[in-house]
Amino acid sequence: MSVPSADHSVAAVLHRLGIHAVNHGAGTGRWIETKGAELVSKNPATNEPIAAVRQASAADYEAVAAEAARAFETWRMVPAPKRGEVVRLLGNALRAHKDDLGRLVSLENGKILSEGLGEVQEMIDICDFALGLSRQLYGMTMPSERPLHRMYEQWQPLGPVGVVSAFNFPVAVWAWNAAIAAVCGDPVIWKPSSKVPLAAVAVQNICDRVMADAGFPGIFNLVIGPREVGERLLTDRRVPLISATGSCRMGKRIAELVGPRFGRTILELGGNNAIIVLEDADLDLAVRAVTFAAVGTAGQRCTTPRRLVVQKGVARTMVARLCGTYKSIRIGDPLLPDTLMGPLIDAGAVDEMMKALEQAKAEGGEVVCGGKRLDGPGNFVEPTLVRARPEMKIVQEETFAPVLYVIEVADVDEAILVNNGVPQGLSSAIFTRDLLAAEKFLSAAGSDCGIANVNIGTSGAEIGGAFGGEKDTGGGREAGSDSWKMYMRRQTVTINYSKELPLAQGVRFEV
Ligand code: NAD
Repeated sequence: MSVPSADHSVAAVLHRLGIHAVNHGAGTGRWIETKGAELVSKNPATNEPIAAVRQASAADYEAVAAEAARAFETWRMVPAPKRGEVVRLLGNALRAHKDDLGRLVSLENGKILSEGLGEVQEMIDICDFALGLSRQLYGMTMPSERPLHRMYEQWQPLGPVGVVSAFNFPVAVWAWNAAIAAVCGDPVIWKPSSKVPLAAVAVQNICDRVMADAGFPGIFNLVIGPREVGERLLTDRRVPLISATGSCRMGKRIAELVGPRFGRTILELGGNNAIIVLEDADLDLAVRAVTFAAVGTAGQRCTTPRRLVVQKGVARTMVARLCGTYKSIRIGDPLLPDTLMGPLIDAGAVDEMMKALEQAKAEGGEVVCGGKRLDGPGNFVEPTLVRARPEMKIVQEETFAPVLYVIEVADVDEAILVNNGVPQGLSSAIFTRDLLAAEKFLSAAGSDCGIANVNIGTSGAEIGGAFGGEKDTGGGREAGSDSWKMYMRRQTVTINYSKELPLAQGVRFEV
């Protein structure tokens, strides 16, 4: 259960989470005295510093990786349900810290408090999921073609898992990976985004206490450092799996570095998601869903819709209604209860949004509402709608901001073509009451994305499903369903309990 604390001042929240003015940048159960350049984390709503981290060096990384490799030797032999019990304790510690950690996420990342708290809830949910999973790491048995032989497959722990996370989910993405990896028998080495290092320090503090009590240091490890430290993780042969969340550009670099050593990757990369609204849709529902999906998190979710694909007959109404709703969005301090949209992560993100709008206009797009940066300290912008055509270059890219391109189509067939006509393939949605249109969208010839929704938006996935996307989104799957299999080594076993040695396929080899 979450225990809200009376004192919500920034100083009190940071204190309770063990965040100092300057923090160490590497930990393995105990903090390592890192001596690298100071990384100052700023509040994106004011651009004022919150606290700093002294970054890790290559030598610090070595110490962390050696500890993770050592911890693997013990952890892999702990029965999976016992590992699940440790993850249950982590979930409980997160429940106790939900309020503070959610506030820190909002403070450092700029998402509104309800989303900051939601992110911590996602961590708790995945711990619960992983606990159940720890008794369900099932292998199959299969009939052997040879007499008195038994064949089955078993799933073995894989080794330390490298987790590289993006700024927009400072803690949840780590948990998706870490809780599953831990029950699978794998320690984790986390390289968080340098834009949100304090949330990672806070999580590490929580983990350290839980793991010290449980007697398993070295399972959850953290390294905050510059690019060369991150790349050490990618090229480290002791780390058989890299699970990386971030831009498509980053994913290509990761694939280049991990591929040559035949490491495994889970790549969760950029999206360019579309919501289709057909003429028979419930427009009240569609307007609410599109607004939450496009404006929520200030458009900084990988699943944020970038394209609204709307059938001609309702295009004018949808645009008018969305403009009205967009104007009512309360933009401001993400920690205030009434705020619906916080700032972008930094000034660079605001510049990128403005550049994208200029390019859209140059390519013939028309800004129909929003489009401006807001005065004041902080990186605030207006949520924006742009009339566009699908083939525009800027529409083919992911702009990580609350910009939604409106594209008119004649029918569901054209809508599906537009949905699929981008390099990325993460999330997609259709609003319709026509069963035939919905099923067409969900068919093999329909949406080509990893996620396809009917009458709900593209964002806000639950942890129970496998999460990820196709094409330039990287093809990885995390969280629920059978995503755990990526974190384990499949082993096929054949046991001969006869006194003969029959060979498969009838091969004879008499000696
Ligand atoms: P980013 O690509 O700039 O950085 C992501 C992470 O990769 C950071 O930790 C960064 O430090 C690290 N990184 C970058 N280059 C690296 C290298 N050469 N070696 C090691 N580490 C490296 O992304 P961002 O701006 O933090 O996040 C936004 C992007 O993430 C968007 O494109 C968004 O769609 C994507 N994203 C995808 C998902 C998903 O599940 N598909 C989820 C969240 C975010």
